[in-house]
Amino acid sequence: MGDIKDKDIDSFLDNIKLDDLVLGNVNEDELLEYLLYIKLNNGQCFECEEKKFYKIKNSKKYECVNLHIVSPTSGTIFHKSSTPLSYWFYAICKYKETDHKYTATDLQKDIGVTYKTAWRMISKIKELDNVDISKSKKYVVE
Ligand SMILES: [Zn+2]
Repeated sequence: MGDIKDKDIDSFLDNIKLDDLVLGNVNEDELLEYLLYIKLNNGQCFECEEKKFYKIKNSKKYECVNLHIVSPTSGTIFHKSSTPLSYWFYAICKYKETDHKYTATDLQKDIGVTYKTAWRMISKIKELDNVDISKSKKYVVE
């Protein structure tokens, strides 16, 4: 993974096609990097202001070159979820797009997860006041 600041993160979600999320055309690591960037506030490490991060192997966490560890998903609704981030992003986009009328049944139909999973995802998304995934910027090291 390269220098995060080089990425045009602001338009990241705008450039994602909803269908690509469901079809698996969007790389999970890309979405994780997006979350990491949001969490870090301009891509800087909270401990040392370093901007270079590396993904920790077999983990959803990253570390800066000075070994400070950041979990992009901690403190977000995605934390500890085994559902792919692409599905989450899809559900959030749909929820926003339909003016919060998107239901678990719709989600189940669209992405092919079980109703239980769809219901849990929609409930979590509803928990977010304004469906702003960047809302939680809390820095948590586990
Ligand atoms: Zn650091």
